[in-house]
Amino acid sequence: MKDLDLLFQRLAKSSFRSRFKLKGKELDYLNTKGLDVIINHGRDFMDSRLAPANPPNDGKQTPMRNHPIFVAQHATATCCRGCLYKWHNIPAKDHELSVEEKEYVIKVLSKWLENFVDT
Ligand SMILES: [Zn+2]
Repeated sequence: MKDLDLLFQRLAKSSFRSRFKLKGKELDYLNTKGLDVIINHGRDFMDSRLAPANPPNDGKQTPMRNHPIFVAQHATATCCRGCLYKWHNIPAKDHELSVEEKEYVIKVLSKWLENFVDT
């Protein structure tokens, strides 16, 4: 797991990761539902698609659009266990995400999504 400021600096330098932005439907959805609700959806997605040891279709389990969490996951390299390992040093093989690791992922997603919340 990484220091969040350093992580976000590295993400900003990745042309692939920095391409992801919230707009249109996903942006409206975030601001209609509110960040807390969206983060709860994120917890559900994470528990089913990302947290289990050796999740099915790893690398392809996160759609590119249609939910603010999916966009946030690609933007922050929390989309699959391969990216969690490469970007965040979270072990990939035969390892279920711990409570601390899940909280870390939620913190990363929240920090990214906060930039798109209407104030
Ligand atoms: Zn990935």
